[in-house]
Amino acid sequence: STYVFDFAQGNKDQKELLGGKGANLAEMTNLGLPVPPGFTITTEACNAYLRAQDLPDGLAEEIDEHLARLEEAMGRRLGDPTDPLLVSVRSGAAHSMPGMMETVLNVGLNDESVHGLATQSDDERFALDSYRRLLGMFGTTVLGLDDELFSEELDRAKDRRGTTDDLGLEADDLRDLVEAYQKLIAEHAGRPFPQDPREQLELAMRAVFDSWNTDRAVLYRRQERIPEGGGTAVNIQAMVFGNRGMDSGSGVAFTRDPASGAQGEYGDYLQNAQGEDVVAGIRNTVALADLEEIDKSSHDGLLAIMKTLEDHYRDMCDIEFTIERGKLWMLQTRVGKRTPEAAYRIAVGMADEGLIDMDEALGRVTGAQLAQLLFPRFDPAAERTLLAKGMNASPGAAVGKAVFDWDTAVEWAEQGEDVILVRKETSPDDLHGMMVAKGILTSRGGKTSHAAVVARGMGRTCVCGAEALDVDAKSGQFTVRGGKTVREGDVISIDGSTGEVFDGAVPVADSAVVRYFEGEQLDHPVVDAVRRLMEHADGVRRLAVRANADTAPDAARARRFGAQGIGLCRTEHMFLGERRELVENLIVADDAKGQHKALQALLPLQRQDFTEILEAMDGLPVTIRLIDPPLHEFLPDFTELSVAMALADTRGHRKKRERKLLEAVRRLHEQNPMLGLRGVRLGIVIPELFTMQARAILEATAARLEQGGDPRPEIMIPLVASVRELELVKRRIEEVAAVVEEETGVNVSFRVGTMIELPRAALTADQIAGAAEFFSFGTNDLTQMTWGFSRDDVEASFFGPYLEQGVFPVSPFESLDVEGVGALVRTAVEKGREVRPDLHLGICGEHGGDPASIHFFHEVGLDYVSCSPFRVPIARLEAGRAAL
Ligand code: PEP
Ligand code: MG
Repeated sequence: STYVFDFAQGNKDQKELLGGKGANLAEMTNLGLPVPPGFTITTEACNAYLRAQDLPDGLAEEIDEHLARLEEAMGRRLGDPTDPLLVSVRSGAAHSMPGMMETVLNVGLNDESVHGLATQSDDERFALDSYRRLLGMFGTTVLGLDDELFSEELDRAKDRRGTTDDLGLEADDLRDLVEAYQKLIAEHAGRPFPQDPREQLELAMRAVFDSWNTDRAVLYRRQERIPEGGGTAVNIQAMVFGNRGMDSGSGVAFTRDPASGAQGEYGDYLQNAQGEDVVAGIRNTVALADLEEIDKSSHDGLLAIMKTLEDHYRDMCDIEFTIERGKLWMLQTRVGKRTPEAAYRIAVGMADEGLIDMDEALGRVTGAQLAQLLFPRFDPAAERTLLAKGMNASPGAAVGKAVFDWDTAVEWAEQGEDVILVRKETSPDDLHGMMVAKGILTSRGGKTSHAAVVARGMGRTCVCGAEALDVDAKSGQFTVRGGKTVREGDVISIDGSTGEVFDGAVPVADSAVVRYFEGEQLDHPVVDAVRRLMEHADGVRRLAVRANADTAPDAARARRFGAQGIGLCRTEHMFLGERRELVENLIVADDAKGQHKALQALLPLQRQDFTEILEAMDGLPVTIRLIDPPLHEFLPDFTELSVAMALADTRGHRKKRERKLLEAVRRLHEQNPMLGLRGVRLGIVIPELFTMQARAILEATAARLEQGGDPRPEIMIPLVASVRELELVKRRIEEVAAVVEEETGVNVSFRVGTMIELPRAALTADQIAGAAEFFSFGTNDLTQMTWGFSRDDVEASFFGPYLEQGVFPVSPFESLDVEGVGALVRTAVEKGREVRPDLHLGICGEHGGDPASIHFFHEVGLDYVSCSPFRVPIARLEAGRAAL
C-alpha cells in the first residue's frame, strides 16, 4: 500500500488517513496558499509500525522517493554540509490532541551542516540557535531525556551571560550550549546524537509514532472520548524560520474570537521565535493587531488568507504561521476549537452572513455546549476583591482552594475539596490536575497557550497570562505584584469569562441563558443566538420534550423551559417528610379497616398535589406514576429502631406502635428489594393503595374540569412484567373512575399506560400493548435489569475499572447502551405498534436528557423524551439536531 503522500496529493476530507494537520496542509497547498512543501506519512503507516514494533516494508523507500522530490523542489539536500535543507517532523492525528504528541524541528543539522547554514544565512547565531533547539527537542522527545537537564543548562548559560531572555544569548554562548547538550545526550542516552540526517529523520518519525501510546496521550483520548487505534500521521515539511531576527517570528491566529465568537482579529505573535515558543508561553506575546505596526505587508497578507480560509471552510479556523525575513508562511490550519458561547454566536453569525443555512448552524452546536451555558456565573451584585486580571481563556465561574502542582490537585480533589490549579504555565504533565480542578489559573501565556486550549476542550474554567502574579510553585504560593500573597489552601475565585481573579469565595449567580429561559427580556448576543437556534430546533424536531417533575413549582419551571407536559410524576416523592407517618400507619395497620383509615388520610393530600400539578400543566399531558418503591423505604432503619427500642425498654416505656413498626420492618425486609415487592406488585398485593391514588388523580381531574381547566392525566403503572398484572390494576382503576364520575357528575377522561422497564415487558410488548394506551420506557430500571447492575451500587463500586478497561466508554446509566438495552427498546416499539398502531411512546429514564441517547430515541420512533426540567432546553435542541 501507499504510506506517503505529498501535500499536493491530499485534501481536507482525508483526516483519518493523513491526520488533521496533514489533510489541512494539503487543502491549503491546493488553495494556492504559501505552505512550505512537504509530505505526510499516513496513520496506516503508524498503525502498521505500532503493531509490528518496526517500520512496515516499503516505507523507508517511499520516504526516500518523496524526500528526493522535496530536495529537488527546494534545490537543497537534507543536511547538506554547505547548504542544508532542514525539515520539521510533526505529529498529526485525525482528532486534535493539543500538546500531547511530539514535534522535532530543524532535523538535518549536524556538526557540519550547522556551518553551511551559518554561511548561507550569514548568521552564525541563528544557525547555532537552531542546532541547540534540535538537540534539545531530539534529546527529550526522541531519546527520552528529562526536559530539565536541558532547561537547567540553558538557565546556566543565561546566568553566565547575565540575561534572563533567550534572545540575550550570543553565538559563543550558543556554541557552548551545543557542546553541552551533546555531552548530556552522550552521557544520559547511552549513545551520541546521530550526525546522519536521514537517521535523525527516521528516529524522529519513530518517536512521533510511539508518542501515540504515551500515558498522557491515552489519558487525553479517554477524557475526550477519542477512539483508540486511530494512530497519528507524521508530517515532514521544509523548515521556515521564525527565529531569523526581528523581521521574523511565529504566531497563531483565529478568524473569529474563540472565546466570545465576535468578529475581529484574534491571535498572538512573537518576534524572533519558533512556533513552539508561542504555544508554550515562554515569552509573552503581542496581539495580532500589533503585527500591523511590525510588518504591515505580512499582517495584511495574513488577514486576506484568513478570509479565504473562512470562506472556504465556512467555519472559524485557527492558524499557525511563521514570518521569515518578511515572508509569510502558513504552517497549519483547522476548524478551530471554541467556547460554547462562541459556538452559538459563530453558528448564527455565519448563517446571517449566508455562509451556511440554519440547519447547518443547528448541526454545529450541541446540547453539551448548551449545558455549559446554563452553568452559573459570579453574582454581579456580590462584593469582591480583585487580585489580578488575566486573559479570559475558558468561561465559567470557579471557586476553590489554590494548589500549585498537579499531584496536590489530585490528592485534594479526591478528598472532596474544590481546587484551583495555579501554575506559571501548564505543560501536558499537568493534565491530570487540570481534569480534577474546578479551574486553572496561569501567569504566563496567551489564549492559545497549552492551559487555554486544553481547558476549553474540557469545558474547564481558565484564566491565563495573569502577569501580575508571581507564581512560586516550589514554596506553594503566589504574590500579586505590590500586594497580597496567596498560599496553598487559600480560597480564590476565577472568572473565565472576564479573566478576573478574586480573593476568597465570590457568590455565584444564574447564567444569562437561564434567565432568558425563566422569561427575562435580555439584550445579549449569546442569548439571542441560543434563542434563534432553539426556535429552529423546535421547528424541525419530531420528538416532543416533557419533564420529570413531582411538584407544581417544578412543573411550572419545566413549562417555562419549554416542556410540553410531564412525562413522569413520581408519586412516592409526595409521601416524604411529614406524610411519612401516614404511610407508616398504612404499613402497621392490623386489618383492612386500619388500612382503609390510613389511606383515607392520604387521599385529600394527594388530591391537592395532583390538582396543583394539573393546573401548572393545564392543557398539556401529565403522566402520573402510581407508587413504585418497596414500602420499607418509608420505614425507619431496622438497626436504629432496635437500638432506640432497647433504650426505651430499659426505661420501661415500650410503646405498642414501635413494636409494630419493628415487626413491620422485619416482615418487609428483602434481600434484593429492587427485585422484590415494588411497583405493580404492590398494587396487586395492596389493591387499595393504587385505587386510592387513582381516586385522588381522578377527583383532581374532576375538580380542575369544574374550575374550567383542561386537565390531561395519564395514569402510569410501574414495573409491569406481564399483561395480566396490568389488566388487574387497570380494571380497578376503571371501577374507581365510574365511582368518581357518579359522585361528582363530571365526565373524566384519562389514559392508562405502563412503564416498560423490565426485559420481559419489552419482549412481550405485543401482549402488553393490548392493555396499555401508552408505553414509557423506564431506562433506569431497564438498564439495571438488563445488565444485572444494581443502579444504586455499581457506579461507585466497580465502574472505575470497567471504564478504564473499556468495557464501555461511558456508564450505561448515563448514556443508553444502544446495542443491548436499545435492542429491547426497539423490540418493544415494534411489537407494541404492531398491535396498537396509535400506541403513544415515550421515555422517562435519566437518558431522556442525554444527547446521544436522544438521537437514538428519535431514530427508533418514540413520540417524546422526558427529562429533568433543567435539561429540557438541551433535549429540545438535541431532538432538533437528531431530525436534521
Ligand atoms: C426508570 O426506571 O427509568 C424510571 C424512570 O423510574 P425510576 O427511576 O423511578 O425507577
Ligand atoms: Mg423505574
